[in-house]
Amino acid sequence: MTETDRKDLRRRAEEYLEALRLKGCRRTEQRRLIIEALLENQGQHLNARELMERVQSKDPTIGFATVYRTLLVLGETGFVHSFDQGEGFARFDIPQETMHFHVLCRSCGKMVHLEDEAAKQEIVTAWIGEAGFRIVPQTFQLYGICQECREKGAPMNEAAGAETCCGRRRLGWNR
Ligand SMILES: [Zn+2]
Ligand SMILES: [Zn+2]
Repeated sequence: MTETDRKDLRRRAEEYLEALRLKGCRRTEQRRLIIEALLENQGQHLNARELMERVQSKDPTIGFATVYRTLLVLGETGFVHSFDQGEGFARFDIPQETMHFHVLCRSCGKMVHLEDEAAKQEIVTAWIGEAGFRIVPQTFQLYGICQECREKGAPMNEAAGAETCCGRRRLGWNR
């Protein structure tokens, strides 16, 4: 990372910290490192543990609870989007656009980013505007059954749970 990039990252993290301060959250060095790690990994959709590992490479004393609590606060204030891709844990990201779209297969859990996001944003923005609202940044997660699963005859109404080391994977909203 160049010196300019590092300064830019600092400046952007500063904006988030200041916004948090206005919401009554304390500014801490640990929070700054967590926000910087989120900014550095924007678009990666990290889970809390992956984010913690990146933060710990800079300060090994930052624990999982601190990372997770900070993510929750940032999520509540709308600075961070969280989404469950059917893995049984959340992934987090700082939104790059006003809106961001995912489609998730309810059968196999595959996630795809939808094309032509900008054009769809215009439609949703206008639609929400008709109700007198202004859109805030958010991730939309739509559910479907992917082509592969349809060809294999996956049912349209039931998520097929897959076994993992932690037991049954949670797919869809009904388990
Ligand atoms: Zn995404
Ligand atoms: Zn599928």
